[in-house]
Order: sequence, then structure tokens, then C-alpha cells
Amino acid sequence: MKIIHLGAAVAVALALAACQKPQTANIDGERIAAADANAEWLSYGKGYSEQRFSPLDQVNAGNVGQLGLAWYADFDTDRGQEATPLVVDGVLYTTTTWSKVFAFDAKTGKQLWKFDPKVEGAKGFNACCDVVNRGVALWKGKVYVGTIDGRLIALDAKTGQQVWSVQTTDTSKPYTITGAPRVVKDKVLIGNGGAEYGVRGYITAYDAATGKQAWRFYTVPNPKGAPDGAASDKVMAETVNATWSDGAWKQTGGGGTAWDSMAYDPELDLVYFGIGNGNPWNHKVRSGGKGDNLFLSSILALKPDTGEYVWHYQTTPGESWDYTATQHIILADLNIGGQPRKVLMQAPKNGFFYVIDRANGRLISAKPYTNITWATGVDPKTGRPIENPAARYEKTVTLQVPGPLGAHNWQPMAFNPKTGLVYIPTNVTPFAYTDERAFNYKAGAWNLGVDFLVNALPTDAATMKAVASMIKGQLVAWDPVNQKPVWTVDHPYFWNAGVLSTGGNLVFQGAAHGEFSAYDAANGKKLWSYKTGNGVIAAPMTYELDGEQYVAVMVGVGGAGQLSAPASMPQRPRLPGRLLVFKLGGKATAPAYPAPAEQPPLDLANVSSTGDVQRGFAVFHQNCQVCHGANATGAWLPDLKRSPITASAESWKAVVIDGANATRGMPSFARYISPQDAEAVRAYVISEAKKPAATPEVQGARGSF
Ligand code: CA
Repeated sequence: MKIIHLGAAVAVALALAACQKPQTANIDGERIAAADANAEWLSYGKGYSEQRFSPLDQVNAGNVGQLGLAWYADFDTDRGQEATPLVVDGVLYTTTTWSKVFAFDAKTGKQLWKFDPKVEGAKGFNACCDVVNRGVALWKGKVYVGTIDGRLIALDAKTGQQVWSVQTTDTSKPYTITGAPRVVKDKVLIGNGGAEYGVRGYITAYDAATGKQAWRFYTVPNPKGAPDGAASDKVMAETVNATWSDGAWKQTGGGGTAWDSMAYDPELDLVYFGIGNGNPWNHKVRSGGKGDNLFLSSILALKPDTGEYVWHYQTTPGESWDYTATQHIILADLNIGGQPRKVLMQAPKNGFFYVIDRANGRLISAKPYTNITWATGVDPKTGRPIENPAARYEKTVTLQVPGPLGAHNWQPMAFNPKTGLVYIPTNVTPFAYTDERAFNYKAGAWNLGVDFLVNALPTDAATMKAVASMIKGQLVAWDPVNQKPVWTVDHPYFWNAGVLSTGGNLVFQGAAHGEFSAYDAANGKKLWSYKTGNGVIAAPMTYELDGEQYVAVMVGVGGAGQLSAPASMPQRPRLPGRLLVFKLGGKATAPAYPAPAEQPPLDLANVSSTGDVQRGFAVFHQNCQVCHGANATGAWLPDLKRSPITASAESWKAVVIDGANATRGMPSFARYISPQDAEAVRAYVISEAKKPAATPEVQGARGSF
């Protein structure tokens, strides 16, 4: 009897321990909605309204100088770390590149489990903007992650074991998933990416318990003109199909991928999605230069139960510049003109800050939040932009801001209801848009209808220096009611990090040069900073545990800015990802990163090619530069000017034509270029390697898109 009693006592003690720290992420819609106002951080943007504001104020403008490292964790992947960690019941969940998921004890940093979806390395080629992942969703004891190869996976929150997995995409097409799923009313919502290559965008809802598909909504028409048997069929037939004309979209799929932003209003029962750019980019090539091409560059409001269409607002009709409206969506209640308004706010790539009535999609106001040249304003009556006629680049090259990286990209903003300000990470990145006169669809490759060659053409040093001086990154504190900046902080480089604001009157943001800083939310004064030793692009988050406030941020530069414009970024090697967690009086120290093994220069005296350098220059900039940098300046993905593969025609052909490095994300290009053209590219790379180094200013202007 005694033994039985003892056993029962142990069982009770274990049950009590489990109650104190259940580690099951057992959350539902009510708890996520409550996180909009309380201190919990349960969904990508904190709660359903995605404000990224925490009322926690233990760390505040008065004491933030005492912030120190509480714990850190190093990861087994490098490249861009874009995730926002979530914390529930003392467990921190985060993701890294290659869609890996980690769970940590949020107090000690002890790793509880990890999950590797084992994405094939070759799938990295399908990711326009790095093999990134922005985080997980939590719901009723499960953790959900989307993977680079298009799967949506449910894990047991306690163990990290896979519960179910669904392939959300056609694996024969270059779809990817980088965004965090959201869960609304027992449905997991997920979109996809791929609109640089040529796919047709859609959003899918899956049953959170089983993974069974509940509904799908296509964002652009079916190229065959047929119904899809999807939730979007009705609005396609009634409104959308007529906004498209004959063009390359029928071959490429049209784009319109929903790769990042979502938000949910439980009262209106509307879920909002940000929709991406067209494919090809060039409106003339895509749709004969005709039509608005819905729902490209739009915000869509749907019913979460059925996917039924409710309203849309298109930021950029006839999109032609990669001006996605996938950027962060924030829901808030603002007092405008003496009236309380339920608004939706977005600062999409096109440079306008939009305040929209989220019940009906009508424009309240829009003003440029940074320098833009493509439009002069937004017509308040029609809600349409007033375009600069030169922006359509059908006849001439147009040097324009913003370029395809946008005046604001995926890096999340934050809205602080106490200051009434939205804190926006902004970029100024010019780009020379040029019509690709002989568009030729290449399945599986980039298909833009834009000639990238012009962005690499040599111009005089003075022009290059002037362009370089335009490139900048800022943190802008924006008054959304009066549509004007209140303060700005200049960063040394563009492509800086996402933002957190807190009840401690603070704004936290990392930067490309590596500092993670806290600013006074009212005036932008820098109050604290920490040198991470690597670039930061991810948004921080904050949580409270056992009476202490923590601030957590993922560290690791990468993503579209680093990949496509490495010469405009700090010159540093790829470093392993790291999670940093701070608290007042934290005394931990993270070790310095291991010294990188620098690739020695090639012995150029013994390297030569009989290829045509001029031909190679053109082929390189049409096929290679988005990963290896304009003018072969890329030093982040392998620097071809120093790669041993460049040393011989045989090793070059083995990789470029025969696909020897396919599992590492460099597939065979035999589908796109001939062996002769491949050798011409090698000849061009060797010619670049033999040139003296350009000045930093001129380097910065190269590849500035
Ligand atoms: Ca894009």
C-alpha cells in the first residue's frame, strides 16, 4: 500500500510540475487575440493585429543602459536569419534558414528540441531572396512551419515530432515558402513565393488538427480561363479576369504571391493578406501594358471560414516594378478627424504609407514615407497613384526610386499606441528599369521582362558616386494620422532590421552594420546598443518570465538585400546564425565568431580562357548576377573571382553545365545557356578578377537594386 501511495504522490507531483510548465503551447484564438493588449507574444506579429508593441516596461528608457545578455544560442546554418521568436509557457520557439525549428527554455536557453525538415539543397535555387524563414505559428499544442520546398508541417509542441505534413505547392514549379503561417479559427493559413521565376500565387487554409485542405484562394486568374473549383472563382469571373490582357502571364502564371503579411480582425471576422508583384515584372510583357492586373500589389480581405472575397485595395495598378504589397500589415484603432476609425496600415515597397478603412477597404489617406520618384501622390478620390509618365520604361531606361528592393521590404514595422507612431525600417535603393525587348520565357529561371544588363553598364566614376550617395537606410517614426515623419535615424547602410516598440517608451532595431540598439520612442535618441558581430535583419520580440523582462533577437545578415547588392553592404563573411536574449543586469557573454577561412586569390598568371569576354558580360548579367552580384562583385555567395572552380574550364563546366554542385543550391544551367556561353562567363569573371579593385563608393553603386 505504501508503495502505491508513494507512486501516486510522485504522479501528483509530476502532474503539478507539468501544470506549472506544461510546454504544450496550448493556445487558441481567444488567447492570440488577447495578446494584442497583454504581454504575451503568440503569433508572428505578437497578436492578430500584428502591432509588434509590448506593454512590458520593466526595461525602459530610464534603465535600458543596464541591458545585458541573459543567454544566447548558436545555430548550424548561416545566411539570413529573419524569424521572430514566439514565447509561450516558458518556451521560446524560433526558426532558422533552411526552415529548421528550435525550442528553448526561455529562461535558461537550454535547447529542448529541434526539427530539421531536410529540405534538399537544390531547392535553394528556387528562393529569389535567400533560404530564409520568418517563424512558426502555435495552436492547441502544435507548432506550424512552412518550408522552402513548399511543405506546411505540424509538430508536437512538446517534443518537436512531426504530426502531419502537406505539400502546399506543385513541386515541378519554383514555389517556396518563407513566411510564418497564421492560425485563425482552427485553420492554418499559408501563402507562397516565386513571383520572380514564374508561378501563380494563392493562399490556402488547412485544418489545424489534420492538415486537410479547407479552402484555396488564387490571387491572379487561371491562365486557361477555366474555374479552379476554388474560393476565388466567383470574384475571378466577376471582376479579376477582365483586368488582364494577352501577354506572357499566360505562360509564367502571373505572380501575385502572398509570401509574408497577414492580419486578422476577430470582430469584423476578416483576414487580411498582402499580395506580391506580377510575373514577369514588366507590365508590357506580362499583359500587353493593359489592365490593372488584380490582385497584384493589393491588400485582400477574405472570410477565414470559407476564403470568400470581401474587399481589396490595389496599391499599384498595372504593377511593373516589383512593387509588392506583401509588406507588414498593422491593424489599429486611430482617432482621425475626431472620429475613431478601425484602420489597416501598410508601407509597401512603392513608398506610400497607406491608412485604409479595414471594414470596407476604402482609402483614408496615403503619403510618401521616403523619397520616391515613380509617382507624385495618391488620388484621394480614386485611391490610385498619380504616376510619373517616365516610370513606365517601355521606351527609355528609367532610373527610379524605389527599386525592386522597395522603400520598405519584409522587415516588420511596429505601432506604439502610446506615442501613436509607426516605426518603419526604410530603404532608398535606385534601380535602372529597362524593357527586355526580346523576352524569352525560361521555365524555372528568373523571368522579369526587365533587362538587368543596364544596371551593370560602366558609367563614369562621378555618376557612380552620385548613385552610391543616394543609397541609404533609415528608421522613420511616422505619424499615421497626420501622415508625416516625426523623427528619423540614419543608418550607415541600407537593408536594416525589423522593429519592436514597448511600453518602456523604447524602440528596438538591429542594423546591417551589426549593432542592435534601443531608441527613445518619442524622439529617436539612441539609448543603448550592443555589437552583435554580424548584420541584423530580423525583428526583435520581448517576453516576461518569473518577473523578469527579456528582449530576444535573431542575428544573421542575408535575404534579398545582401544577396542582390552585396557590394552595397558591409563586407563580411557568412557567419552562423545566433539568437541573443537580453535582460536587465544580464551577464552572459557570447563568444566571438570563429575567424572565417578567407578564400585566397587565384593565381591569375596561370588562369585563362578563350571565351568571349563581352558575350560573357551579357550572359552573366542575364543569368548569374542576382546571386553572384553585379560585375561579379558577390563575395557572399561564392566569390567567383576567387573560386577554385573558375581556375579551369573543366571544373567550371562540371558545375555550370553538368550540375556538380546542384545539392548545394547551384543547379546545372544547361537548360538556359550553352557550354560556349558558360565558358564566355568564365572569361568575363577572369577579366573582372584581373581588374584593380574599385573604390568603395563606386562598388556601392554597383548592384544597387
Ligand atoms: Ca518580388
